[in-house]
Amino acid sequence: MSTRALFREDAYLTRCEATIAAVDEQGIHLDQSVFYPLGGGQAGDAGTLTLADGTRIDIADTRKAKFEGATPDDAVHVPAPGQEALLARLAQGERVAAEIDWARRYRHMRLHTASHLMCAVLPYPVDGCSITTDYARLDFATVEPIERDFVEERLRELVGAAHAVHTEWITDDEMAGRPELVRTMSVKPPMGLGRVRLLRIENVDLQPCGGTHVRNTGEIGELRVAKLEKKSARTRRLVLEFA
Ligand SMILES: [Zn+2]
Repeated sequence: MSTRALFREDAYLTRCEATIAAVDEQGIHLDQSVFYPLGGGQAGDAGTLTLADGTRIDIADTRKAKFEGATPDDAVHVPAPGQEALLARLAQGERVAAEIDWARRYRHMRLHTASHLMCAVLPYPVDGCSITTDYARLDFATVEPIERDFVEERLRELVGAAHAVHTEWITDDEMAGRPELVRTMSVKPPMGLGRVRLLRIENVDLQPCGGTHVRNTGEIGELRVAKLEKKSARTRRLVLEFA
């Protein structure tokens, strides 16, 4: 029932053909998918699955599948409510065209890459991170004051400098030997597949990440600090939104 995670190699892939592996109370399992399952702080994808006869199933969210022996790549496509009759008709082995809501995903990609830039802007450990369609929320473990103008200015420079973004792979063993690469205390590196994916922003940042990213920081566009607050005695919360 394992899913081939096509977004891992190409985050710009918006559709693919797939075969239904199973339908259960979690949702629809496919043999391969372009849908990103909620994880690493990044929201899951929405979109549609279209059957051979043209029938469309609306997918509201994508989650990591739960079953004995599931890997971090195994995903389940969660149908929007009210499609029960349609779901009951689905058969294992049926072919579908899976297509993500690209406008939504592209916002996730831009905000996710921006949150990696934030690790270069503010050199503090991240102890919470949430990337949604409308904002990226980051909790920094620090007692130092954070200046809104400084953050916006540094981000503008990093976006404007159009740094290339790409992925590299290292083995689980190499990852275990390089703990300094981990910036986010609350998100464990995506280990368990034998290799770990690193996201490199040329000359800016390098850290393990299984999420989807833009190819160049220039694609992020203009951002503003929508919120900056003291979350606890040792944590500063920062929310980025599109300007
Ligand atoms: Zn990431």
